[in-house]
Amino acid sequence: MEDSNNVTMEKLISLCKRRGFVFQGSEIYGGLANSWDYGPLGVEMRRNIRNEWWNNIVRQRDDVVGLEAAIIMNPKVWEASGHLQGFTDPLVECKNCQGRFREDQVESENCPECDGDLGPPRQFNLMLKTFLGPLEETASTVYMRPETAQGMFVDFLNVLTSSRKKLPFGIAQIGKSFRNEITPHNFIFRTREFEQMEMEYFVHPTTDENWHSYWIQERFKWYIDHGIKEKNIRIRPHESDELSHYSKATSDIEYLFPWGWGELEGIANRTNFDLQAHSEASGQKLVYFDEETKSHITPYVIEPAAGVDRMMLAFMLDAYREETIQKDNKSAKQDVRTYLKFHSSIAPITVGILPLSRNEKLIPLSQKIYKDLRINTHLNINYDDAQSIGRRYRRFDEIGTPYCVTIDFDSLDDQQVTIRDRDTLSQKRLPIIELSQYLEDKMKPNGIA
Ligand code: ATP
Repeated sequence: MEDSNNVTMEKLISLCKRRGFVFQGSEIYGGLANSWDYGPLGVEMRRNIRNEWWNNIVRQRDDVVGLEAAIIMNPKVWEASGHLQGFTDPLVECKNCQGRFREDQVESENCPECDGDLGPPRQFNLMLKTFLGPLEETASTVYMRPETAQGMFVDFLNVLTSSRKKLPFGIAQIGKSFRNEITPHNFIFRTREFEQMEMEYFVHPTTDENWHSYWIQERFKWYIDHGIKEKNIRIRPHESDELSHYSKATSDIEYLFPWGWGELEGIANRTNFDLQAHSEASGQKLVYFDEETKSHITPYVIEPAAGVDRMMLAFMLDAYREETIQKDNKSAKQDVRTYLKFHSSIAPITVGILPLSRNEKLIPLSQKIYKDLRINTHLNINYDDAQSIGRRYRRFDEIGTPYCVTIDFDSLDDQQVTIRDRDTLSQKRLPIIELSQYLEDKMKPNGIA
């Protein structure tokens, strides 16, 4: 039976809380303006997303290396990068209720909350400020980074000399960024604290456009290979009036969220803007010696920049399924089965180990399989012997566990177990000895042999 995706934000948010993916931040104190905490399953899923990105962008390539720069950088970084001056959104304030809105998100001329008159737009800087040291004065003002990218530009020479890379090469980083968004909204789509996965790919200035197209295609394919439905994702080139202050061209990878298309990731051609700006401001020549022409050049930069939080939301929405099934073998009653059809590499728990019952004969073998799999694979494995087998299957379905392994009385004699597939509900017997290889094979992204 083809499953339907009747997902709404309400259903998803409720599942996230019930099963431990996402909780409201500081909930016992009434929360804090759209801040969220990631629960036990949420952190496992985010870890998988980061690992899949890192493996694809860094470990499986010869031309990209990693970096972890400090979140709080010298404020001169933000002066040179243009963020102090240009990282702003247009803000309008209601004269009646004093509500503040992003001008480009207000549809009518009046306040969306009280219909009052809106004042003229003014530019609002999105960087969050704080102070270093005991004095709260201008001299000690610093900023929480609004993007991870500047770390890669500021450390360009250090990475170049220590890693001996030749053009083209990239520097990748995963970490938290902060933006004082005027209107954070849509659950974890837009928050003030979020996590980015960015890569700066340095190329010869004459090859920037080819590399830009290359990375747009690569990044699009990554989503498809990790199970996102092709009809829910698209590439949208920016109009010239949308481009960031540093960009020559940008294409967004967008996802069809319940409220419409929204950005998942931006792939920008940042030209030599940042390296040049930091060379001028710091007095350090951030250049590359080109052996062919025997001259120094300032490389161009192609930047795929994605967000862990938005990606997690898209993976969850895309995976959500409701399916009508027969309640049991005895009656014709119908029931709804909810499951998350995650790709195995993204699912927070890959395998559930389930003895058919708590019968003491089944426990030693079940525990042995559980322990062996934990030692011999890098999968995340859960053991569950509480409640009826049907209820346990349902729980694993709802948290998107692709496989359940059931140990029954036959297993004691034939050393085989039953593997149940979350999506097709098909069950097959497999020798215990083949289990780890079988499951590891399922972890590979689609399209990877
Ligand atoms: P938007 O137009 O939605 O504000 P942006 O174009 O400013 O996003 P970028 O600067 O390109 O975003 O950042 C790269 C990625 O970081 C985005 O594609 C998104 O996944 C993530 N991101 C940016 N801002 C936020 C935010 N406030 N909350 C969650 N994720 C974010």
